[in-house]
Amino acid sequence: MKNLLECVVSVICFCMIGMLLPDMGVKHGHAVVPEEITPLVKSKENGKIAYLTFDDGPSLNTMEILDILDRYHIKATFFVMGNQEPYAKKAYEEMKARGHAIALHSYTHDYSIVYKSPESFFLDLNRLECKLQQEFGIKSRMIRLPGGSNNLLRHQAATRPIINEILRQLTAKGYTYVDWNIDSTDGISPSISEQQIISSVQKGTKGQKHVNILLHDINSMKNTVKALPDIIEILKKEGYSFDTIDETTPKMQFN
Ligand SMILES: [Zn+2]
Repeated sequence: MKNLLECVVSVICFCMIGMLLPDMGVKHGHAVVPEEITPLVKSKENGKIAYLTFDDGPSLNTMEILDILDRYHIKATFFVMGNQEPYAKKAYEEMKARGHAIALHSYTHDYSIVYKSPESFFLDLNRLECKLQQEFGIKSRMIRLPGGSNNLLRHQAATRPIINEILRQLTAKGYTYVDWNIDSTDGISPSISEQQIISSVQKGTKGQKHVNILLHDINSMKNTVKALPDIIEILKKEGYSFDTIDETTPKMQFN
């Protein structure tokens, strides 16, 4: 409990320092890029960009996913959970070491805890932030809500006010929540075929300049791993370059 309190305090301090510091431009490696140069750095935003996003990891598939991404020299964004399994430690470390973006999803992913109340939501979220920060030095203010910001609970009268209040507080506390615009459908069930995952992504790209693709890093979802090389090949052929999501990425939110 003491550790949790210390961590919450340090997270708050970290945020306050961030708010007090002047805008120094975009950090690029060790150097700081002045404001005038940022449009050049961001010129690729005029082109087609694909953001591969993986929810729910780490899993037993993480290392294989990372190896595939390495093969294509692609960085992805992982919205992670709190996973205490022995294999997970290496997976968190490798995501970080290989330069991928690591953002927040949920510690427990248990709807009865996460969406019980705004207080319960932020306890779960802070628990994840503390784990990532203390064990791996990972800090993020980006979150993908379990089920997305427009999940089923938002369509039920009893839970709608809870989700709305969570979204309001996330923004007020300086978090950015990120949804997606292509559902690969891999999360529906492990029986969804490799081919269906590929064709869902391919259909979703029609007429889209920026594609934020929902994929899953879950033990049972082997077909996601099998589909990944083809998904990357198709996106490359369609002229997309790949990037990670950060606070400067154009917002992709359902509402
Ligand atoms: Zn999830």
